[in-house]
Amino acid sequence: MNQTFDVIIIGAGAMGSAAAYYFSRRKQRVLLLEQFELDHRRGSSYGYSRIIRYSYDYPEYVELAKDTFPLWFALENSLGEQLYVKTGGIDFGPADDEMLDATIASVQSGMIEHELIAVEEAHKRFPQYRFGEDFRILYQPDSGFVKASSAVRGHILLARQNGAILKDNTVVSDISINRDSVDVSTSAGSYSAGKLVVTAGSWARSLLLETGLNLPLAVLRCQLNFMSTSGSSHYDSDSCPVWIAHVSSLFPETLYGIPSHDGSGFKVAFHGGPPHRRPSEIDYNPDPENVEAVRGFLRSHIPGLAEAPVRESRICLYTQTPDEHFIVDRHPHHAHVVIGAGFSGHGFKFSTIIGKMLSDLALDGATPHNDRLFKIRRFSA
Ligand SMILES: Cc1cc2nc3c(=O)[nH]c(=O)nc-3n(C[C@H](O)[C@H](O)[C@H](O)COP(=O)(O)OP(=O)(O)OC[C@H]3O[C@@H](n4cnc5c(N)ncnc54)[C@H](O)[C@@H]3O)c2cc1C
Repeated sequence: MNQTFDVIIIGAGAMGSAAAYYFSRRKQRVLLLEQFELDHRRGSSYGYSRIIRYSYDYPEYVELAKDTFPLWFALENSLGEQLYVKTGGIDFGPADDEMLDATIASVQSGMIEHELIAVEEAHKRFPQYRFGEDFRILYQPDSGFVKASSAVRGHILLARQNGAILKDNTVVSDISINRDSVDVSTSAGSYSAGKLVVTAGSWARSLLLETGLNLPLAVLRCQLNFMSTSGSSHYDSDSCPVWIAHVSSLFPETLYGIPSHDGSGFKVAFHGGPPHRRPSEIDYNPDPENVEAVRGFLRSHIPGLAEAPVRESRICLYTQTPDEHFIVDRHPHHAHVVIGAGFSGHGFKFSTIIGKMLSDLALDGATPHNDRLFKIRRFSA
């Protein structure tokens, strides 16, 4: 006889761990299944940090961020642990950059506290950075980062305290969906539940194909680089903002980064990477060419670190949708199956609210939070 639960969640990354927490808070019997060890390095959620911000090019994300920050604070209180580190954030780039333009418009229409800083003033306030003469610089004081692996582990710790069961190193090999329940076969036995949550990251497309749903998800191989700051506090989170450089007209991609904290090194990376059809094709060995390309950007805009040694480089996966908006929705053919996928390299900051939204959708049929951009039907329009 299969062990039975109220809900089975596939994938214990940022989204699945958060979902487990919010379902367990609603007194659901939760089984969370993870194919690798918890907090492994082969997906999208491992690591020191992920940028959190209000400054977005779409007003919907600004609204969602307003609902998200309080949930991170509540989670920190429940855990008695800091997850969010406030550093302030700068978005900068040439005056004609459309994404920067839309970001400024969204924080203004969203009534978010911000400053547009002149280049000369910005060089005084942020001496670590070099801005082009025609650059615009948007400063938002609440930006910062979330401690990524700590947040995943924190959601799971609280979910387990509420009775949730995590089985890691347990691969889901088959899903069969019945009229109002699901049966899941794994490398460690079979399980049944009334509801299923698929938060399988870059593996979601192949899993969901089995359920008759073909989502347009690409796997991007992205490289993170942590530049050594040689112990200088100049590039630390106490004195340096997180940043997004809207310079895709000058470099292969937008770049972003996070100051060093707890000796992590100064994070710098391109927003994106080469596409692959499935994670099994990914080579996790970092590329020296990527570091050289990043140094090109640093020479222009963060010259003090351009020749710094690399403390660490790592590969991480984006699961990209064609419009770079998330998928947070019910399965079009099975209302008792909900999906969180395609977070396109910018989902972590929202993971705690995505977890809540998935539990709302599964248990209430709808969520009070702004999910207008996240519907699956947009791909069939
Ligand atoms: C380089 C990089 C930088 C980023 N920077 C930011 C940032 O600054 N700010 C931000 O907000 N976001 C950022 N993101 C995005 C963010 O990290 C992701 O959106 C988020 O981590 C996605 O979480 P996930 O749970 O969907 O995926 P994952 O963490 O990959 O979780 C999916 C899990 O499902 C498991 N799984 C899959 N198939 C099966 C199966 N058959 N059986 C059992 N388990 C299975 C996988 O092993 C995996 O652990 C970044 C991402 C990357 C890669």
